[in-house]
Amino acid sequence: MQSLRRSFDNQPLVQRSCPLCGERAQRLLLRGDRDFIGINTSQCSACGFVFSSPHYPPEVIAEFYRERYRSLFKGQSDPRGLALRQTYLGERAEFYIEFLGSEGLLPGSGGTVLDVGCGEGTLLRTLHARRPDLRLAGVEPTVAFARHLAEETGIPIAPGLDELRDGARFDLVTLVHVLEHVHDPVALLRQAGARLGPEGHLYVDVPDLAWHSSITDLHIAHCSHFSRHTLSAALTRAGLEVVRAVQHRPPTLPPSIYAVAAPRRGGIVDVVQADPERDAHAVRIRSIEPGEPNFWAREIRAQLGRLK
Ligand SMILES: [Zn+2]
Repeated sequence: MQSLRRSFDNQPLVQRSCPLCGERAQRLLLRGDRDFIGINTSQCSACGFVFSSPHYPPEVIAEFYRERYRSLFKGQSDPRGLALRQTYLGERAEFYIEFLGSEGLLPGSGGTVLDVGCGEGTLLRTLHARRPDLRLAGVEPTVAFARHLAEETGIPIAPGLDELRDGARFDLVTLVHVLEHVHDPVALLRQAGARLGPEGHLYVDVPDLAWHSSITDLHIAHCSHFSRHTLSAALTRAGLEVVRAVQHRPPTLPPSIYAVAAPRRGGIVDVVQADPERDAHAVRIRSIEPGEPNFWAREIRAQLGRLK
C-alpha cells in the first residue's frame, strides 16, 4: 500500500459539499482512513449523509480509476484470466445472476442488460454463457480492462455512460458495488436512469453503512457510505422511482443494501428528507478505532516482502 499512499502525495485535499443534498455544513466523524492517505469521514449537517470529506478532487480520483485503481488497490494489474486467479469473482457473478432472476429483473429473450463498472467482466461473461439470447453491454473506466473484455467477448464496453451509443436503452442496468466509489453518486444514477427503457429497471447494490465497524470500511475508494434511507434518497433525487430498498448479505462482499428503481412518471422530487438513523450512524463511525496496528502490520509485511 506504500505506493498507493505515494501516488496521492502532493495532491490537495478539498472539502466536499454533501453529494446527496448539496449542503456545505458538515461535522467531522472520524479522522483518518485504512491506508493513511489523509481522508476523513464526515456527515452532512442537513440530511445526515455520511461521506469522505475532505477528499481528493474529482479529476484526481478519475485519473486514479482510469490508471491505478485495479493495480494498486485490487491487486489486479492484468485482466487476463483474472476470474481464474480470483475465484470469488465467479462465485459473486453466479450469485447475482441467480438473484437478479429471482427478483424478476432479468429480461426475456432479446432483452438488453448494461453492467456499469463491469471491471474484468465476470458478471457479463457468465451472463453471456447462461443467457446467449440477451444483448449485453458494459461500462468500465479502467482502460486496460475495458479493452481486454471487449476484445475477448465482443461485448461493447464504453469508458463512461456518456460514451455509450446515442439512444441506447436497456431493460436492466446494474451497478453492483460501484455507486460508493464515485464523486457524484446522484449524477451517476441520473445518467444510468437515462439509459433505461420505458419498462426498464435499475439495480443498485452498495455496502451497508449500518455494518461499518472498522477502519477497513473507510478508504480512498469509497467516497460515500449509504444507508437504506440515503440510497433511496439518492435514487429519488436522480429522478427515479424506488421500487424497493432492502438489506442483504451477498457472498464475497460486505453486508449490503440493494435497491430496485424504475423511471419516474410523476414530477421532480428535489427535497432530501434527513436520515432518521443519522445519530446512530454518527455514533458508530465515531467509535471506530483509527487502526494503527493494521497500518504497521502492512508496513512490516511490505518490508519482509522486499527482503525475500
Ligand atoms: Zn446532505
